Amino acid sequence: MPRILLLVDRQENRRLLVEWLSPRYEVCASPDDDAIAQRFDLCIVDSLAFQRCWKHLQARQDREHPVFVPIVLVSAHPKLKSQQPQLWKIVDEIIVTPIPKTELQARIERLLRKRQQSLQLKLGSIEGLETQGSQADRLLALLELEADLHHAIERNELQAYYQPIIELATDRLVGFEALVRWQHPQRGLVSPVTFIPLAERTNQIFEIDRWMLKTACTQLQQWQSRSPDRPTLQMGVNFTSCQFHDETLCETIATLLDRLNLHPQQLKLEITERSLLEPTDTTHEQIARLRSLGVEFYLDDFGIGYSSLNYLNSFPVDGLKLDRSFINKIGINANTSEIVQSAIALARKLNIAVVAEGIETIAQQAQLKQWGCQYGQGYLFSKPLDARAIAPLIHRFSGDRTSG
Ligand code: C2E
Ligand code: MG
Ligand code: MG
Repeated sequence: MPRILLLVDRQENRRLLVEWLSPRYEVCASPDDDAIAQRFDLCIVDSLAFQRCWKHLQARQDREHPVFVPIVLVSAHPKLKSQQPQLWKIVDEIIVTPIPKTELQARIERLLRKRQQSLQLKLGSIEGLETQGSQADRLLALLELEADLHHAIERNELQAYYQPIIELATDRLVGFEALVRWQHPQRGLVSPVTFIPLAERTNQIFEIDRWMLKTACTQLQQWQSRSPDRPTLQMGVNFTSCQFHDETLCETIATLLDRLNLHPQQLKLEITERSLLEPTDTTHEQIARLRSLGVEFYLDDFGIGYSSLNYLNSFPVDGLKLDRSFINKIGINANTSEIVQSAIALARKLNIAVVAEGIETIAQQAQLKQWGCQYGQGYLFSKPLDARAIAPLIHRFSGDRTSG
C-alpha cells in the first residue's frame, strides 16, 4: 500500500485528508519533521509546514534522485503558483483547497503512478543488488547504501581480505587475491557481491579499486620484507575497465610499485569480461603500456561471459581464472569436466597461466592437478581472511611445513 506523509499544520485540513485518504493509503500524519527521513511515496504539505521543513524535503528529493518523490502543496491561495515560481523546484503539484474528494484522489493516483514507474526504472538498472522486502523498501535500502558508500573510504570502513593462491603441483603458496569487504556501521560486513555492482553504476568503483590496489600492494611489500628469503609473492587485484580512462594510470602504478620496491610482475590485474564489454582504443593502449612495464593481466571468471574465446583473441592476457561454477561441477557433470580440461589445455597452448577458482574438495584439487592446472584458490586452502589472519598461512603454505 503506498505510504503518504501528511505535513499539514492546519488541523481541520489534516483531519479531512486523513479521513479521505486512509482507506486507500497508509497515511502518516506525523507532525514530526523526522518523518521526512522515513520511507514515503508521496508527501502532502501545507504552506505553514512547508516554510518549516522545505529544506528537509529538498534534501530527501536530492537523496532519492533520479527516483521521483512527489510533493504536493495544499493551499487556499490560487495565486501561489505564479507568485512564488521558485516553489516548483521542490513542489510537483499545488492543490488549491477546497477540492472535491474524487479530484484529489485522481491527482494523487496520477503522481503515485509516476513514482512507481521511476522506481521500476531504477530497480531494473540494479539487478544484482541483494536487498529484501517490498520494492520501495529495497529501493530505499539501495539509496541508503549508495549514500553510505560515498563515505566508506574516508571513514575507513573498507577492508582488504586476502585469499591464498597455491601452486597445485607443489602445494606452495604463490600469492594472494585481494578481495574488498565493507564493514558497514549498521549492516555489519557487506559482501562485494552486493556493493560492487552498485559502485560500478555510480562510478565509485574507481576509487574503491584504487584504494584496494594501494592497500594490497603495501600489504604485499610488508609480508615480503618480513620474509626476505622466501620466493617473491604475487598479488591479484580486481580491476574495472573505468580505470583505463585515466591517462596517468600507468605512471601511478609504476610509481606505486617503485616506491614499494615491488617487481611489476608481482602485480596481476584481474579483469572480467563483463568489465571489458566495450573495450576502446584507450583500453588496448593502457593494457599494452602496463604489460610492457611487466604488470600482468588475468581474465577473471573465465568461461561464464558471452564470448570468452573472443576476448582471448583480442586481449593479450597472461592468465585465465577458471570460474568457480565450473570447478564445483568437476566429477559431477561430464560436460563441465571436458570444458575445464579444454580450458586448461588452451591456456597451456597459449603459454599463459591458469588458476582454478573455488576449489573446495581434495578430489577437485587432485583432478585439476592431474589435468595440468597450474594454480588454484578456494576454501580447501583458505577462505579470504584479513591481513592478520593471513600471516601464519604464509609459513604454512611456504613449503616449510616439514620444518614445523
Ligand atoms: P572474484 O574476483 O572472482 O573472486 C573470487 C570470489 O570467489 C570471492 O568472492 C571469493 O571469496 C570466492 N571464493 C573463493 N574460493 C571459494 C570457494 O572455495 N567457495 C566459494 N563458495 N567461494 C569462493 P567475494 O570475495 O565475495 O568477491 C566476489 C566478487 O566481487 C569477486 O569475484 C570480484 O569480481 C568482486 N570483487 C571483490 N573485491 C573487489 C575489488 O576490490 N574490486 C572489484 N572491482 N571487484 C571486486
Ligand atoms: Mg578476481
Ligand atoms: Mg573470479
